[in-house]
Amino acid sequence: MSRSDLDTDVVIAGGGLAGATLALALGQAMPRLRITVVEAFPLSPNALPDSYQPSYDSRSTALAWGSKMIFEDLGLWPRLSRHATPIRQIHVSDRGRFGASRLNAEEHGQEALGYVVDNRWLGLSLMAALGELPGLSWRAPAEVADVEAKTSGMAVFLLENGEHRSLTAQCVVIADGGRSGLRERLGFPVSRSDYGQHALIANVSTSEPHDFVAYERFTDAGPMALLPADGPDGAGSTSALVWTLSKEKLDEMLACSDEQKCARLQERFGWRLGRFVRIGSCNHYPLVLNTVTEAVRPGIALVGNAAHTLHPVAGQGFNLALRGLMSLVEQFRLADGRGQSLGNLSVLNAWQESHRADWKRTVRFSDSLIRIFGSDTPGLAVARDMGLVGLDLFPEARRWFARQAMGLGGRKAEALPLDRAGAKNHD
Ligand SMILES: Cc1cc2nc3c(=O)[nH]c(=O)nc-3n(C[C@H](O)[C@H](O)[C@H](O)COP(=O)(O)OP(=O)(O)OC[C@H]3O[C@@H](n4cnc5c(N)ncnc54)[C@H](O)[C@@H]3O)c2cc1C
Repeated sequence: MSRSDLDTDVVIAGGGLAGATLALALGQAMPRLRITVVEAFPLSPNALPDSYQPSYDSRSTALAWGSKMIFEDLGLWPRLSRHATPIRQIHVSDRGRFGASRLNAEEHGQEALGYVVDNRWLGLSLMAALGELPGLSWRAPAEVADVEAKTSGMAVFLLENGEHRSLTAQCVVIADGGRSGLRERLGFPVSRSDYGQHALIANVSTSEPHDFVAYERFTDAGPMALLPADGPDGAGSTSALVWTLSKEKLDEMLACSDEQKCARLQERFGWRLGRFVRIGSCNHYPLVLNTVTEAVRPGIALVGNAAHTLHPVAGQGFNLALRGLMSLVEQFRLADGRGQSLGNLSVLNAWQESHRADWKRTVRFSDSLIRIFGSDTPGLAVARDMGLVGLDLFPEARRWFARQAMGLGGRKAEALPLDRAGAKNHD
């Protein structure tokens, strides 16, 4: 079967943050490519449903500086930036201990270390941009039920409007999220580690302005992050809370009145932002570290949360996914230029190799941050005090930490606009 006999070139299973961004990047880089996105929820370009949708919910995402540059390249930043709150400083501290460290954007010659954008705005912006892609076929609500490799390409089986349909494609990219049914169905081995914790998410208002500071605070009841979240011109009193708690503490917290929730927060976080005056509706997510050991097979690639689900306090999951998506687009572009099928295993292996070091480093960074700072073990508590003090004392250590947080840890000096502006890679 020739390529033109296939129904489409790439099927993306899942139109969440990862799938939608991939569709946009692919559509821009390879305008002749036929791309089909299959999304289980009834959302489509130029329309998000009012009801809950797993990717574009009430969470906020901290986009690293490197991710901002990717969205600039995709032409999405002018729109995203309208509601993006810059993070000018990250303050890392340990409740009840002396260690603390501050990372400043200025010190790195940048206007911000990253930006906080609410997921719904990210979704609306992505959907608006996808609406302008001519080669895109968007099928929703529809589910990819199964995928099979055939000699001619990939067969993709869909369930759409209660009917079974099938499509053929060169390659299927699985972006169906952390609980990926397709990953399970296809038997990709997953290394799992349950943190035994849940993330409580809410927007909070404080009596003092955040001054564009993001706080990462490690407490004996679990790590918490407070991210500035009311837009570039906001009053500065709204922050997005991510608080990791045991199941028991989470249940206690959910049973509290808003006043009691604010009081508990105050007790754990302290008074750096003045009084907690209001807390919005609370959502919660179980926390696991899931990573596949291999993300490719002939004709299949796993991306986003389907490939790696990280702890959210370090704010690295989507940032890592984005970098992986951009390198996948690059490998597809090179393969297309050589006349190779996009599902060819050597193409997909080349992608996996190009992304592997960044993937491993980011998983290690995010996991060790949680394990070291989330632990009550006395030796570790002292070590982390020393670590935080060390971060403050040693510019190279702080620089390394900041580059991880900015999503620039693994970048080659010449590869990024930031680096063209003078920063060097210190990995
Ligand atoms: C509390 C919290 C805070 C976070 N904060 C940050 C942060 O600050 N910075 C950061 O970088 N990352 C953060 N993350 C991680 C980030 O949210 C994820 O990396 C991102 O949502 C992953 O997107 P995804 O598209 O891979 O998966 P999802 O968002 O789960 O999307 C999967 C999509 O696939 C669809 N789907 C499922 N099954 C099928 C099927 N069979 N067929 C078709 N469609 C299907 C679903 O409907 C959904 O739309 C956070 C995560 C959490 C939980």
